[in-house]
Formats: sequence, C-alpha cells, structure tokens
Amino acid sequence: MNWVADRPALDARALRREFPIFARHPSLVFLDSAASAQKPRQVIDGIAEFYRGDYANVHRGVYKLSARSTDLFEEARERLRAFFNAADEREIVFTRNATEAINLVAQSWGTAHLKAGDEIVISDVEHHSNILPWQQLRDRLGLKLLVAPTDETGEFDLARFEALLSAKTRLVAVTHLSNVTGAVLPVERIVELAHVRGACVLIDGSQAAPRMPVDVRALGCDFYAVTGHKLYGPTGIGVLYGRYDALEAMPPWQTGGGTILNVELAHTDYIEPPHRFEAGTPDIAGAVGLARAVEFIEGIGRDAIRAHEEALTGYGLDRLSHIPGLRLVAGGQRRLSILSFNLDGVHAHDVGTVLDQHDVAVRVGHHCAQPLMDKLGIAGTVRASFGLYNDEADIDRLSAAIEACREMFR
Ligand SMILES: *Cc1c(COP(=O)(O)O)cnc(C)c1O
Repeated sequence: MNWVADRPALDARALRREFPIFARHPSLVFLDSAASAQKPRQVIDGIAEFYRGDYANVHRGVYKLSARSTDLFEEARERLRAFFNAADEREIVFTRNATEAINLVAQSWGTAHLKAGDEIVISDVEHHSNILPWQQLRDRLGLKLLVAPTDETGEFDLARFEALLSAKTRLVAVTHLSNVTGAVLPVERIVELAHVRGACVLIDGSQAAPRMPVDVRALGCDFYAVTGHKLYGPTGIGVLYGRYDALEAMPPWQTGGGTILNVELAHTDYIEPPHRFEAGTPDIAGAVGLARAVEFIEGIGRDAIRAHEEALTGYGLDRLSHIPGLRLVAGGQRRLSILSFNLDGVHAHDVGTVLDQHDVAVRVGHHCAQPLMDKLGIAGTVRASFGLYNDEADIDRLSAAIEACREMFR
C-alpha cells in the first residue's frame, strides 16, 4: 500500500517549525506524544503574554485587570465548549488533568448516586487513572467492578461487553483510545448499549482528543475527560465535560473559595456548575494556554490531523512488521497513532536506551496499565506514539534505530 499517496494535506515538516523544542533539538525524533505532546509557539507565547499583560486573579476583582483576566478565563471555557461541541459552556469544568476529571466524577457523582450492589463496567485496556478511582469507590460503597475484555486482535469485544450489562449497571467508564495498544474503542455503540440500561457513560478522551474530532453531543456520553498537556497545551490543566443536568445533580467534591453562593458557619449554599467544581484559584494561565492550543489544532483541522496520524500508523505498522523478532501488541482494526512492541530477547528498557542513543525518544514500561500487561503476560513494552509534527522520516529513523539495537544484542 502506498501510504505517501494517501497522505492528506498536512505538512508535518512545516508544522514542526511551530514547535520551538525542535529548533533546540534538531536531531530529535520525538515519538512520545502519548505521554505528553510538545507545545507550539502559539501556546508558549500565549501563556507568556497573558502573564505579561493580562494577569490578575479571576472572579473576585472589581478592577479592570481582574475583569479582563476573568473574561480570558471564561473565553477559554467557551473555546473548549466549541472544540468538543458541548451544548453549554457551563458543561466545561476545568480540572488539573484527566486524572482529576475522573476522580471528580467518582467522588462527586459516584458518592451521590451509587449504593452497595451497583455495578461499574470498565475495559481491560484502561489507564490506571480510569481504574483506581473506581476501585476505591467499589471498596468504599460495596460496588462491583466488572471488566469488559478486548479480544486477541486488540478489538473491544462488544458482545461480551453487552453480556456484562444489566439493570445493576450504573456507570460505564472506558477509554476512547488506548494509550498502550492504540485501539479506538467503539464508544458510540458503547454509549448506546449503556444508555438502554439507564447507565451513565464516562469516556476517557486523553488520547483521542488530540487525534480525532470529538463531538460530545454526537457521542451522547455523560462525561468526557481530557488532559491538556497531551492536547498540545500546558501541564496542570484538564477538562471534564459533563452533561449539565448530570453536573447539576452533583455535590461539590472539593470545597472552598469560588464554589459558594453564601456561607454561614452552620450551612453553605453552593453555586451552579461549573464553578461549583472549581474550588480555589484555578490554573488561569493554563486555561488560557489550553485555549490557544485548541485554536492551533482547529487551524490545522482535526480531520487532517486524524488522516495524517492514520497514514503514519499504517506506515509505521508496515515498517515495524518487517523487522524480525519484533512483536507488536495487537491494537485492532482502527488503531491510531500508538504502536507498542517488544523485541525478542531484549528488555524494553534496553531498547529505549539504545533508541535514545540514536535520538529517538520513546516510552518504555507498563504505561500506567499494569492490568493490561498482566493480561498480555508481559512486564512492559516499547511504545512509539505520533503527533502532528511527526512524519515518515521519523518512522524510518525509528526502524533504523531498532535495527541497530538488534545488531547490538545479537
Ligand atoms: C495520560 C492518560 C491519562 C491520565 O492523564 P493525566 O494527565 O496524567 O491525568 C488517563 N488516561 C489515558 C488513556 C491517558 O493516556
């Protein structure tokens, strides 16, 4: 198959020039965007400009600068609303990251709505961040945590998932795109099947949001969790999308300044979402930076980014499958941007170290998915993941470095 001919109009080489890190490290082949993406100038400069010219605390000042800062913070919320096509900007809660977004739902929604005997369904490719909050809730409330499997080809098994659902199912919490296998889960169908049983659905969009169009209204999910630093934005900021009626029926999970209407020592009235869930001074500059990031992505086009990453994934699969002794972890038919593998007879950490000597940056280890490693019967993998600045030449450098590693450990 000729992947080059299928390439859509996205000039990764030109886009790379928008990322200052590559000017500082010209020989770097960065294949670790699934851990965190690099930042475009627009984001870095946007944050610096905000601190230089517009900074003050939000929501409290009567003076002009604070009003300006508040406007920029709330405009960032509106940007994120539009980016995910939420119906209302009050459905966008700023959090620290995806982990905090998921914990918010577990602590607030879970505690308010779940009772002993209720069931939560997750998948077997979840990141620890979408396992541990539910484990903790299970232990605290006496819930059951069920795990929907992927099959040997890495595909989510819809039939076995459906068989796990019942009237006791209250929540389905699954990833949109696996950070280990790259599998894209059939989330549209998962939402439909869960909603028929009256269960809520949380989707962990940490890996999908940077790589494909995400329309929360079309998906129909109740919650969608995103982390800003994988979306070409800064660290320290994430987003929880929640359907407004769901958020409205949830108590605050952390309390303090910014969450209240009226406080008496005996009683407090809390304000509406989203501010009810944003206790204390938020990461104002982070929100502004994340807004610049989604503007950057929209400027390129998410369809173009997805097509680009699909083409890279196809090219990468083709290249890696020709390397003797390289075993790819299965990622199903709709795998996107993430390729995990092991080299026969070489520890993943050694592969990563040799690749680094060739200036190829990959991640090695369990990728915060130990239950999946256990299922696959491996301790870890080498993971190459793509971003919008990667191109075929990066994959050629990766395969050359893997060949060098094979030579070394022969
Ligand atoms: C990275 C990641 C998370 C956690 O993101 P944080 O920024 O660490 O909160 C959760 N789920 C998936 C699938 C991820 O890839």
